[in-house]
Amino acid sequence: MPEVVLSSDRAMMSNYHGKEFLGFGATSPSVGIPEFLFRWIFTPKPPGKNGVVREAPYGLRKIEAKLIEEGFDTLTVDPSSLKRYLSTAKVLLITGHDYFGLGPPSTTFSSLVKRESLNAISFRKFITSREIRKAKKEGLKIIAGGPGAWQFRIRDEQRREYGIDCVVEGEGENVIVDLIKKALNGENLPEFVNGDEFYPSVEQIPEIKNPSINGLVEIGRGCPKGCSFCSVTRKPLRWYPLNKIEREIRVNVESGLYGGILHSDDVLLYGSKDFRPRPEKLLPLLELSMSHYRTLAFSHASLSSVVSLKDRFSEIAETVLQNQKFFGAEVGIETGSVNLAKKIMKNKAKPFEIERWKEIVIEAFGIMHDNSMIPAGTLIVGIPGETSDDIYETIELIEDLSDFRSLIVPLFFVPLGLLKDENWFLAGNVREDHIELLKTCLKHDMKWVRDIMPGYLQGLWYGPILKLAFRIFLRGVGRLFRKHGIEIN
Ligand code: SF4
Repeated sequence: MPEVVLSSDRAMMSNYHGKEFLGFGATSPSVGIPEFLFRWIFTPKPPGKNGVVREAPYGLRKIEAKLIEEGFDTLTVDPSSLKRYLSTAKVLLITGHDYFGLGPPSTTFSSLVKRESLNAISFRKFITSREIRKAKKEGLKIIAGGPGAWQFRIRDEQRREYGIDCVVEGEGENVIVDLIKKALNGENLPEFVNGDEFYPSVEQIPEIKNPSINGLVEIGRGCPKGCSFCSVTRKPLRWYPLNKIEREIRVNVESGLYGGILHSDDVLLYGSKDFRPRPEKLLPLLELSMSHYRTLAFSHASLSSVVSLKDRFSEIAETVLQNQKFFGAEVGIETGSVNLAKKIMKNKAKPFEIERWKEIVIEAFGIMHDNSMIPAGTLIVGIPGETSDDIYETIELIEDLSDFRSLIVPLFFVPLGLLKDENWFLAGNVREDHIELLKTCLKHDMKWVRDIMPGYLQGLWYGPILKLAFRIFLRGVGRLFRKHGIEIN
């Protein structure tokens, strides 16, 4: 039986029916439908055998790989099977994107609907479960990490209450072994560790040994753009060589996953040393991925890279679209105001000038639409220094995007990165101009979600049931917003 168990709550461990985008639903409170149905649509139970999950969050797989390489007896398990494995475990490692529902999407939806997000409920139920409480009394050490680790700094009281001994912020590969050794020896652990101070080189980053959720594989780390609101620090860009990426893809494919997601803060920038995409590096990466996966998506892409690659974009799309009609990526629009863009993200448009931001966004959306790429574009609402004029410029931009197949997700400002000492933006701060912006986005999304969803949910035997449940959910969302005077149909 393992001495180190890795797991997390169901909102993190689910594979979202193999449709990664549905995972975003976990950042919302259940609206319009009963919670059990909401949970089934957005966070179904993870597939696995004997309580061992088939797929796990990529970051958790990286840490698992490091521990396996160092000879620790580890296992990554389904949260509903903790009872079986915690009886012998001495350390529990957990991960989270958004432990307390404080991330931008959860804050936005929760403060509008005035209810707790599903991911926050899911984590609380997990960490206060009888199995974990019992194991804790028997001396279990808990170490938490993942992109949401920063939330424990502002919820330190709850961290103590939940018995989380140590929180690792940032990249954990070079600090985890020492922590596990200490935990197994019964030594006290530091309450917080900044893994970014010891960030690993490409060679030090282990390769996953077991499959990641929805076949996600990282292609590199770091971002050179340094936007002030972003938690991605300005660590050096590190791109992985193709053979390293291929070995991880093989792990996923050999476990039966046929679709994959390439992950980095800008997949289109693969192999670049600055802000200029290098198609001679990117295309071989895509060809390699498609030689193993049947379908492919990108976690993130930048709009400036889309425009930089406009002459090669049809080639890029053709490579990815061999067995699928569309592919998706998250893209950051953030604002339609050039004045605001200059203040908060002066490098975001690079290699172009930030003064051209609005036209870059429109041109990029046009290129993606023409090439069957569906972007989920994020906006920041309520960033410090934002004026009403800035908001109306963003509204104009969203209206200009109305003919492009896409989703636009407005997110309330959360103080992170260089702006971590600023105030949160919550529903109480929402003014008329913000409501106008939210309405414009909702209209855009309702139009396109009906177009996108039927195709997106294809391929599941229970797809028709899921589509019906999703339609009921959309009707519920419509009713809820109508109640607040927002007509979105
Ligand atoms: S918001 Fe995107 S482009 Fe800006 S620093 Fe963060 S990851 Fe880089």
